[in-house]
Amino acid sequence: MSVELTSFRDSVERMFTHAASFMDLAPGLEEKIRVCNSTYTVRFGVRLRGQIHTFTGYRSVHSEHMEPVKGGIRYSLDVTQDEVEALAALMTYKCSLVEVPFGGSKGGLCIDPRAWEEHELEAITRRFTYELSRRNLISPSQNVPAPDMGTGEREMAWMADAYKRLHPDDINARGCVTGKPLSFGGIAGRVEATGRGVQYAIHEFFRHPDAMKAAGIEGGVAGKRIVVQGLGNVGYHAAKFLSTEDDARIIAVAERDGAVMNPNGLNIDELRLHIAETGGVRDFPGAEYTQHSLGALELECDILIPAAVEGVINAENADRIQTRLIVEAANGPVTAEADSILKKRGVVIIPDMYANAGGVTVSYFEWVKNLTHMRFGRMERREQEARHLTLVNELERLSADRGLGWTLSSNFKDRYLRGASELELVRSGLDDTMRGAFQSMAEIWHTNDRVDDLRTAAYIVSIDRISQSYRAMGL
Ligand code: NAD
Repeated sequence: MSVELTSFRDSVERMFTHAASFMDLAPGLEEKIRVCNSTYTVRFGVRLRGQIHTFTGYRSVHSEHMEPVKGGIRYSLDVTQDEVEALAALMTYKCSLVEVPFGGSKGGLCIDPRAWEEHELEAITRRFTYELSRRNLISPSQNVPAPDMGTGEREMAWMADAYKRLHPDDINARGCVTGKPLSFGGIAGRVEATGRGVQYAIHEFFRHPDAMKAAGIEGGVAGKRIVVQGLGNVGYHAAKFLSTEDDARIIAVAERDGAVMNPNGLNIDELRLHIAETGGVRDFPGAEYTQHSLGALELECDILIPAAVEGVINAENADRIQTRLIVEAANGPVTAEADSILKKRGVVIIPDMYANAGGVTVSYFEWVKNLTHMRFGRMERREQEARHLTLVNELERLSADRGLGWTLSSNFKDRYLRGASELELVRSGLDDTMRGAFQSMAEIWHTNDRVDDLRTAAYIVSIDRISQSYRAMGL
C-alpha cells in the first residue's frame, strides 16, 4: 500500500501550527512568524568544458526580526524552493531557541558537486556569490551564509574571497560567511561544531531523569547502541565523539550506497577513510553489508541519529523504527506524520532545531570574532595564567611555611595553570548553549500538561521569543 508523504515544508508548517495552537499569540502574528518573507531564484551561466552551463540557485529569507539573517548553502541536485524555504524557517526557530541573534535564511544550488572538478566548482561558487551579493543576500550585516550539505570550508573561503573583491572597502568583509578555514578568518572548532553539538545534546538528555524516563532509557551514554545515517560532516563528528570519547557503540552506519553493521561497534575513522578511498561503505572490513541503506534505520538500537537528508523517517517506515530515542542531527529527517506515530509509540525525539544547532552557535562565535578582528582569549589568556600561578605559588608557600607538606599534583597544576585556548572557549560556549536550550525546552515539556514532546516545546520557546521581539519593535 502506498502512503502519502508530506513535503518537508508542509511538515515544518504543521509542526509550527501545532505548537502555536497552545499559545496566545496576537491576531495575525502567527501568520507573520510562519510565512517566509522572500525567496530569490537565480539562473546563471558559467562557461565550463567549452560550453555554457546554466545553474539554478536560491536564497530564501524567512524572518528578518533580527539581522543579519543566517543559514547554510546546500549543493545538491535535490535542492528546490520548497526545501530551501523549509530550511530557512527552521533556521529562524533554531536561532531563537539557542539565543543566537540572527533571523533565518537558507540557500541552495541545484548541482551535484561530485560531478565537477575543483576549479569548476570554484568558478560556479564565485559566480553564485556575485549573484547573491548584487541583492545583498550575502553581507556581514544582512545575510551570512554557512556550510550545509555538499559545501564546507573550501566553498566558504571562495565565497568570502569573492565577496571581499566585490567590496574591498568593507572592513568586516570576512564576516560575510561563516565556516571558513581557520587560516582565512574561521574559528577553532567550527568544522566539528554541529557533530559536537549533537554530542552535547545527548549529554544533556542524560542529565534529565524525566526525559530519560519518558524514553525508557537508563544509565549513561557508555555502551549505548547507536545507528547513524550519513557519515558526512555532521554524522562523522557526532559518531566519532560518541564512540571514542563516550564509549558508545556505533552498531550501524547507513550511507548512499548501503549500510554496514557490526554489533560490537564500527571504527568510525577507519570507515570514513574507507568511504574516502572507495566512494562508499561496501566492503568495509569486519562489518556486514546491506545494499538496503534505509533498512538500517529499522535496526534495534538505543539511539538513532539521522544525519543525512530530510524525510527519511516517514509514514511508511515509522512503525518499524525500533529505538527509544531519535536525535535529529539532520534537518527535517522525521516528517509530521512519522512524528505523531512515533510519539504514540513513546519514542522520544530530540528535534533538529535543537540537536543540530551547534553549527549556527559556533558560526555566531565566528561572526563575532570577524567583527572584533581578534581571536577569542587573546587578551586574557596569559593574564589568567599569571593569576592562577600566583594562587598556586601562595598555596605552596603557605604549606612550606607551616610544614604541612602539601604538594599539588603536576597534572592538576598543568590543567589549572593553563589559560583557555580559543578551542576550549568555543567548546565551553557551545556546551553552555546546548545545556541552556535543552533546559528551556524541558521546562515547557514538563510544566505544560498539553505539551507532550520536545519538538512542540522547542517551537513554543522559539515562537515566544520571536513574538517578544516583534512586540518590542512595535508590531
Ligand atoms: P555532508 O554533505 O557533509 O554529509 C551528508 C552525508 O550524508 C554524506 O556522507 C552523504 O553521502 C550522506 N547521504 C546523502 N544522502 C543520503 C541518503 N539518502 N542515505 C544515506 N546517506 C546519505 O552534509 P552535512 O553538512 O553533514 O549535513 C547533513 C545534515 O545536517 C543536513 O540535513 C544538514 O542540513 C544538517 N546540518 C548541517 C550543518 C553543518 O554545519 N554542516 C548544520 C546544521 C544542520
